[in-house]
Amino acid sequence: MKVIRTTCAYCGVGCGVTAEVSGDGDRGVAIVGDRQHPANDGRLCSKGTHLGETVGLEGRLLRPMIGDSAASWDDALDLVADRMTDCIAQHGPDSVAFYVSGQLLTEDYYVANKLMKGFVGSGNIDTNSRLCMASAVAAHNRAFGEDVVPCSYEDLDATDLILLVGSNTAWCHPVVWQRIEKTRERRGTKIVVIDPRRTETAEQADLHVPIAPDGDTALFNALLAEMKRRGKLDQTFLRERVEADAGFWNGLDCDPGVTAGLFAKLCNLVAEHPRMVTLFSQGANQSVGGTDKGNAIINFHLATGRINRIGAGPFSITGQPNAMGGREVGGLANMLACHLGFSEQERDDVSAYWNAPNICAGPGLKAVDMFRAIHQGKIRFLWVMATNPAVSMPDSHFVREALARCPTVVVSDIIADTDTARFAHVRLPAHGWGEKDGTVTNSERRVSRQRALFPAPGETRADWKIMTDVAARMGWGESFAWDKPAEIFREYALMTALAKARGKVLDLTPHARVSDEEYEAMEPFQWGGERPMAWRFPTASGRARLVSVRPPVPVTSAGFPLRLNTARYRDQWHTMTRTGLSPTLSQHRPEPLLEVHPADAEALDLVDGGLGRVETASGSAVYRIQVSTGQRRGEVCVPMHWTDAMAGEGRSNRLPSQAVDPVSGQPGFKNGAARVVAL
Ligand code: SF4
Repeated sequence: MKVIRTTCAYCGVGCGVTAEVSGDGDRGVAIVGDRQHPANDGRLCSKGTHLGETVGLEGRLLRPMIGDSAASWDDALDLVADRMTDCIAQHGPDSVAFYVSGQLLTEDYYVANKLMKGFVGSGNIDTNSRLCMASAVAAHNRAFGEDVVPCSYEDLDATDLILLVGSNTAWCHPVVWQRIEKTRERRGTKIVVIDPRRTETAEQADLHVPIAPDGDTALFNALLAEMKRRGKLDQTFLRERVEADAGFWNGLDCDPGVTAGLFAKLCNLVAEHPRMVTLFSQGANQSVGGTDKGNAIINFHLATGRINRIGAGPFSITGQPNAMGGREVGGLANMLACHLGFSEQERDDVSAYWNAPNICAGPGLKAVDMFRAIHQGKIRFLWVMATNPAVSMPDSHFVREALARCPTVVVSDIIADTDTARFAHVRLPAHGWGEKDGTVTNSERRVSRQRALFPAPGETRADWKIMTDVAARMGWGESFAWDKPAEIFREYALMTALAKARGKVLDLTPHARVSDEEYEAMEPFQWGGERPMAWRFPTASGRARLVSVRPPVPVTSAGFPLRLNTARYRDQWHTMTRTGLSPTLSQHRPEPLLEVHPADAEALDLVDGGLGRVETASGSAVYRIQVSTGQRRGEVCVPMHWTDAMAGEGRSNRLPSQAVDPVSGQPGFKNGAARVVAL
């Protein structure tokens, strides 16, 4: 029996896990929470607890495949390198793209970013984190000058009021929720949920504010205007640490979008509790106005001085286990690397550090635009790593058409048959959780180790290794000559000196000289510390910015009168390729449900337990009906997880349009236009 400390595979809470591995070769493992990990103090949710049920080899991709035939690694890697080389030679570097994932480790992400932006010479690497928290990133950049989360989980232990915006925390970040509940018991902390739906979290709140979809910006503008009227602004902080867009203070008067009585209750709670954390998540981010929502929240905290203090701040919670690590190294198409942009000086710095022959000229295409460019034939080589865009992208029917048209699709994955893998010309078997070895960064900027529990099965390889083998075949072996993830980590950590030299908060240089043994034994650490911007914001002026924001115009479509929301279930994860393997997890919600308000159900002849088809301009999907007073009238909600293979017509991401936030490029999954037909 071996005991190995690692990090959970799922969400951005980043819980530490202690795995007891049987060691007899049957991949048996008992999972408990790691009591020494600061993110969870030994707690786990149902998904983390049942990780052991998902590590079997059923359905795994264990050999390279070219088409439907098993191939040697050499043949598969030669083909990938040749196709990419030919594509660059014939159509230029922007005809090549990588679509990667918050499931990758930071070391994998670093290699993918370096290969694309420094050697292929294109910015066309984007990640499924674009679907998750890109708007929060853009809001941080606009307000703080850098993508820095100003809070730590410890702030949740020491606060008097928590506003949960667009977050069903009890289901989607359960260990954070457990922490909040503990704080509430201990110090009587008040909890407010701002969400169109009466979720399981809202049921347990002191106050639920059921705004209209995308009503967050108007509500926070109105809240700030009211605090100004009540004399609750922090004038010293405003004078010394903050600057505002021209006309900022004149643009706050908005209709809060809720009844006067409810708004007054909210204002009273906020006015009485200056120690306040606003925790925001996908309900805020997944919107055509997601960046403005993030800035509306941050504006409020800046103007009232509720930031950089214990128990106070705007706190974006990420969805994926390593969305933050990907952001650090440059996995988003609009960042170069290590929080650096594309100025001539930054490009020169990065190019010199990498000794890169082809540093990219500027940002690449963000996810939705990337698949449009594939559809148009402009991108002709796509490498998808550890993600399933045929299911998870909005308007996924269009994405499938794009994949079918792409001359070369390479998929690195752990699962043999995903909806995306069916379009692959080459499939490369990658390490999964329990085999991976590297680091991840959670929502509070805490870097933790994921360690291997089992020997790699079949012919699977680490993602970073697969990419370095391709890079070597393309003539760049010297710059990708790593033998182990510790070497990649050191190169990345040392590179953050470039960010530090430009006044950025991101700084891992104290860890850049860890030995292999120290890397192996590395304890979780938090870059930026608990108060990363206590003395200075990483802008040119050193001050944070109040950004003028406006509520978004809803996406409407003639003949589609209902507002369509999409949501996650407590015990499922993304497209269910992992959680679908656990019988225990599948018991919670065995099938996807369409939640409808009773009045809408009556008007549309929908009966509880019957079937209904949701139709949008993009597609349709069939669900079992759940009549629920938790829905607002005129709005319906479906889960995001199920794929065609699992649920026939129940695939939800056929339904949302390709509309995105104009700043962040994040799709608006939460407020589409739909109609429902009884079957
Ligand atoms: Fe894993 Fe997230 Fe659950 Fe923690 S809260 S155990 S990281 S799924």
